[in-house]
Amino acid sequence: MAGLFALLYLYFTLFPGPVDPAAQQYFSAAEIAAGRRYAQAKRLIFLASFAVEVGVVAWLVLGPAGGRLAQVATRLGKGRPLAAGFLFFLALWLLLRAVNLPFSLYSSYFLEHQWGFSTESLAGWWADYLKGAALDLVLSGAGVLLFFWATGRWPQTWWLYAGTFLAVWLVVANYLWPVLVAPLFNRFTPVRDPEIVIMVKRLAERADLSVDKVLVMDASRRTTKANAYFAGLGRTRRIVLYDTLLRDYSSDEVEAVVAHEMAHWKLGHVRRGTIYGILANFALWLLLFLLLRLTLDLPRRGPYPPETWALVVLFFLLTSFLGSPITNVISRRMETAADSYAVKLTGDPQAAVRLQVNLARRASADISPPPFIEWFSYTHPSTLRRIEAIRAVPQKEGRP
Ligand SMILES: [Zn+2]
Repeated sequence: MAGLFALLYLYFTLFPGPVDPAAQQYFSAAEIAAGRRYAQAKRLIFLASFAVEVGVVAWLVLGPAGGRLAQVATRLGKGRPLAAGFLFFLALWLLLRAVNLPFSLYSSYFLEHQWGFSTESLAGWWADYLKGAALDLVLSGAGVLLFFWATGRWPQTWWLYAGTFLAVWLVVANYLWPVLVAPLFNRFTPVRDPEIVIMVKRLAERADLSVDKVLVMDASRRTTKANAYFAGLGRTRRIVLYDTLLRDYSSDEVEAVVAHEMAHWKLGHVRRGTIYGILANFALWLLLFLLLRLTLDLPRRGPYPPETWALVVLFFLLTSFLGSPITNVISRRMETAADSYAVKLTGDPQAAVRLQVNLARRASADISPPPFIEWFSYTHPSTLRRIEAIRAVPQKEGRP
């Protein structure tokens, strides 16, 4: 199944077919062609890195290498199962990082420079990469220790505890990420421009939301691309605007962005996304538990053997690949809902359309991707679909 999807993805990456002629209303032929080329490079890298990752992990799961690595880990762990499990994880983690490094470096550094999107030096890229890797190692390392410990403590029900732990973690991370982790990578300062502050207040009032802080993030130290997001939970939140957005877009386009992010909040998308995530996470842990019971000769007592970890990684690699059309369908629906709510909030569909055109132009987006690719991997509808949906929103006379 994953192989079939991967082949279809490859086919439509290599032979994307014609572009919807409606794209010519908004974009030049050169812009459309550039968007196609850039997307093609990104898609090939994504597919290649996925294939290599699956290949490496499957080699450990199916061949004798996994068993041998587990023996080494057990020996080095001096018979302590948690230490052995952690060492096996560490070896696999390093291996996956190593095979993935060329793809990361190429797609987020060289390709971005080639297309003029990156403003980062190679040293800066490495600093980010190492910071991110260290954070990943600490968090997943702690997760792995908990996993092996739980399999020993609750041999039949550990999956339930794993699901519960991850559910709590998802919620907590939502709170903590913007406060603790985001500042490791960027600087956040209050927006000075009084016009922006007034605009945000006015929109928030109309949407009946209370915005705690309006912050600007120094995104320009890495990229020329623009974005914005809301962070926090509950009644009060902060909005974060990329400095590139404020620099490169007109004030009514910035307003359209802010209204879109407020719409996500107002329509409860973050909450709904978290709930779906928690449910899916329970289902996946149960499925994994059953799969491990069926395929491995597991001990009746004590933690699972170290090589189990390779199967866990393979399981999550494949399920997240196969599950992406489902999560993306949900995500695209939320994006369309947010777009139309935002237009009602600003009463300015022209600015929203102009924003889509400029965002696509400045990021060299594939305006009208092959339908299979959009269905499979797009978290947002393509530019052309978004413009069509914005234009279809019924307009009241005058602004509220
Ligand atoms: Zn959105």
